[in-house]
Amino acid sequence: MKPVSVRVPAKVNLQLGVGPLRDDGYHDLVNVFHAVSLFDEVTAEPADALRIAVEAAPGSRVAIDGVPTDDGNLAARAARLVAERLGVRPGVALRIRKAIPVAGGMAGGSADAAAALLACARLWDDPAAPVLAQSDLLELGAALGSDVPFALLGGTAVGTGRGERLAPAAARGTFHWVFATADGGLSTPAVYAECDRLRAERGGDVPWPEASAELMAALAAGDAKALGAALTNDLQPAALALRPSLRAALDAGRALGAIGALVSGSGPTCAFLAETAEHAADLAGALDRAGVAAQTLAAYGPVPGATVI
Ligand code: ATP
Repeated sequence: MKPVSVRVPAKVNLQLGVGPLRDDGYHDLVNVFHAVSLFDEVTAEPADALRIAVEAAPGSRVAIDGVPTDDGNLAARAARLVAERLGVRPGVALRIRKAIPVAGGMAGGSADAAAALLACARLWDDPAAPVLAQSDLLELGAALGSDVPFALLGGTAVGTGRGERLAPAAARGTFHWVFATADGGLSTPAVYAECDRLRAERGGDVPWPEASAELMAALAAGDAKALGAALTNDLQPAALALRPSLRAALDAGRALGAIGALVSGSGPTCAFLAETAEHAADLAGALDRAGVAAQTLAAYGPVPGATVI
């Protein structure tokens, strides 16, 4: 059996609408996911037992210290799920090459889980009569985490429920982005907890989240300026409360000509929309010089989801 390598993209949330806290501790979400050209690569190779190795992708300065190499790694749990489903032993060495910022609000762990699902299915399933269809992988992904199915699908899609019910969104053209990373991640549960705390302090009802009509129209038209104006993230006040320095990064990006700026998901990565690829390269350079980010990364979207390479 030859090794299988899968390339998988990061995501940015173009809209993250967070509904009221439910009795089960979750929130109903409206999540417009957009896959961007920052990729992790996961290679699966037959081995005597399940092993994980994590490294920074060549040329990437991603800090991998916080990434577990045991069953705490979402990719390991993905491999075990596929083995269980196919009735095989989970004997696989997974090598994860990371370029997606860790704990940055760009769903890097979920991306690796999606890549591991696909790589292990390719390694162990019968190519002549596959047991696992794409729909089964999406279902296994949803069991691992609400961002995993989107990493399989890629493109631009609207997630509802806990984010796991997905429908592709009509989107035209390519959008150009700059991502400003921050030193030290933000814990997603801590950001949701802060969001709940801020809302309780403020009082009043939390509205039911709805997909933004302006955002969906901007995507369908391929209108970058309208998209920039329609970006929203209900977690942003909480991320800013926990990491006040992000405000300076967002302000700097806007002052330097970004046509949209927001915290990506639960942060602390900030996303800036540019008008063209050249504009994105210039903006990345200007943000670097402004010293408001640990690192700036230019990327474009939408791109496909997890793909065997
Ligand atoms: P999201 O946007 O989905 O909230 P995130 O991008 O903020 O996620 P991740 O990079 O997915 O955050 O990592 C969050 C935590 O998950 C890490 O601090 C790490 O402990 C754990 N983790 C488990 N598996 C992985 C993985 N393969 N890559 C990165 N982190 C992982």
